[in-house]
Amino acid sequence: MEQHTSRRVLCVGLCCADIINVCDHYPKEDTDQRSADYYWQRGGNASNSSSALALLGANVEFLGTLVRGREFLTDDFAAYGIHADQCPVSEESPDVKGAVAVIVINRQNGSRTIMAAINHVPELKMEHFQNIQLHNYKWIHFEGRQNIDEIEKMIQRVQEYNTSCNTDQRISTSLEFEKPRLPGLGRLLDQVDYVFVSKDLAVSRGYQNKEEAARGFMHSCRPGGTVICAWGDDGAAAKTGSDDVITSLVYSPKTVVDTLAAGDTFNGATIFALSSGLDVGGAIRFGCMVAGTKCGMVGNKGIK
Ligand code: ADP
Repeated sequence: MEQHTSRRVLCVGLCCADIINVCDHYPKEDTDQRSADYYWQRGGNASNSSSALALLGANVEFLGTLVRGREFLTDDFAAYGIHADQCPVSEESPDVKGAVAVIVINRQNGSRTIMAAINHVPELKMEHFQNIQLHNYKWIHFEGRQNIDEIEKMIQRVQEYNTSCNTDQRISTSLEFEKPRLPGLGRLLDQVDYVFVSKDLAVSRGYQNKEEAARGFMHSCRPGGTVICAWGDDGAAAKTGSDDVITSLVYSPKTVVDTLAAGDTFNGATIFALSSGLDVGGAIRFGCMVAGTKCGMVGNKGIK
């Protein structure tokens, strides 16, 4: 494995096991049928985004709670070259069983239907983030989860670090605002440099297209902040300050076979581009290109 000495990108959030059944058509409730394929892969939004970053060549680390006995997930991080050695490890118990997502992929259109069980895996706390040596990182991406107060403390720690260091040592921050069921995350939008808003969340707030959503969420961001909004098979949009909305077309593969983690791949690839110095327009185009490529294949190993 290549040894990086550059500052890392850190992805903070969930790692889970994805159990995937591929079906020839979406199953009817209360029927008994064969699936066309079955496999498992490492999942979780921040975990998937770190995979995209690693495959693209970034020096990347994941931080999230792992559960003892699930070394196959740790091994998979290692196989991708993702550092995961600062993750807290919870003991397995009758309650804490490790997060699992059962997923049905429909072969006809690549759709993914996800049922996730977090199984009481403890969310990351500030005490786990406290010992991270911030000078080792150039970008920290937070998956928006229910530990909102703890995420806020982590972001504040990065902000304090940023005010105390030289400009070239500053850490860029981003937050994924994905789940309509976690509206409380909205109060963190003006605390980071980049906000990734999902189509699901935007639609739940009444936005009908990516441009409207980017304009609308900009009002909740900090001056100089950027909103990025991926919009399924309509590409993505971004908005910074008073500039016009920038858009990217979708990059459609010949056949859409697997859209699982398209959004996480988009986020990882866009962060890769931004943290490598690309402007926002170039970065969302790159994000769409990589995510589109991913949709044309099973899993993500061929995106690089
Ligand atoms: P999520 O996986 O979070 O639901 P989206 O569906 O919004 O995320 O997709 C994220 C990105 O993945 C889009 O901006 C687009 O670039 C790409 N993408 C998603 N669906 C397709 C598709 N059917 N064809 C090509 N690219 C797609």
